[in-house]
Amino acid sequence: MRIERVAIIGLGLLGGSIGLALRERAPGIVTTGFDANPQVRARAGERGLVSAIAQTPAEAVREADLVVLCVPVGAMRDAAEAIAAALPESAIVSDVGSSKQSVARALAEVLPGRCVIPAHPVAGTEESGPDAGFATLFVGRWCILTPPEDTDPEALEALSNFWAGLGAKVEVMDAAHHDLVLAVTSHIPHLIAFTIVGTASDLEEVTRSEVIKYSAGGFRDFTRIAASDPVMWRDVFLSNREAVLEMLGRFTEDLTALQRAIRSGDGETLHDLFARTRAIRRQVIEEGQETARPDFGREH
Ligand code: NAP
Repeated sequence: MRIERVAIIGLGLLGGSIGLALRERAPGIVTTGFDANPQVRARAGERGLVSAIAQTPAEAVREADLVVLCVPVGAMRDAAEAIAAALPESAIVSDVGSSKQSVARALAEVLPGRCVIPAHPVAGTEESGPDAGFATLFVGRWCILTPPEDTDPEALEALSNFWAGLGAKVEVMDAAHHDLVLAVTSHIPHLIAFTIVGTASDLEEVTRSEVIKYSAGGFRDFTRIAASDPVMWRDVFLSNREAVLEMLGRFTEDLTALQRAIRSGDGETLHDLFARTRAIRRQVIEEGQETARPDFGREH
């Protein structure tokens, strides 16, 4: 099974990056793109994110071998409904949504009998929109595929090769497990960042200008994550509710234990935890998922 024509629905950070990566790494593949927002379509055309901008979702997918839905998780159902009638029989439909069980359910309901293989490239930035995408976004990052049990192996292989062609490392996982893993590696860290930045800006004893002035103490590193797209993250928490709540329960218990250690002057507990977490950062760097340069490589 060869993928020669790719339709991208949603031309923001993820959709734009796929288009640019294909242009650079697989120029033989023809790309069509559609975005619900006419201004995004116009800007995507100016940046050359895809070979051709379609004015309707149907026009974008009519000749596609692969359709990739790159819209917020809460818009996946609408996006799938909009392409259903025009979708070629043999096309693979995939997505890039940050949670997988709810998207898989929605796509299976709207596109029964079709080859649907949900996916999640674990790659992104805090930027969004048609100017945010870049061709190297997926290089060295993992892309998790969550195929339903009856997926055609050839289609799965074609989609794996597609992502490998964009520079990603590919892993196949059960959708429920994906949602649990990503709850702890992505969704809870975002929730913590949203909370700490919100709390700091609501304090009365410390002024907002002080929070910003002294942010190099650690706060500013949370602000990068907390600047992420509000629509995307609202949808992630609403769609991955069960796994997020489960992991949040664990996190709250651990936080309470730390609170107790601080209150009772239990330095050993604090030191043991901080030593373990420091080792995890080293492993993330060794895995090639982060720069080894101190302070994220910032200029000093
Ligand atoms: P984005 O930059 O905001 O782009 C999404 C685009 O889709 C927007 O232009 C949006 O238009 C458009 N759109 C919304 N509903 C649509 C519909 N029904 N049909 C066609 N276009 C529609 O978002 P993104 O960061 O690329 O995220 C896209 C998906 O990737 C999300 O599901 C997200 O969970 C996932 N993801 C994101 C990251 C990340 O770091 N950002 C990483 C991995 C996966 P409007 O803005 O006008 O609504």
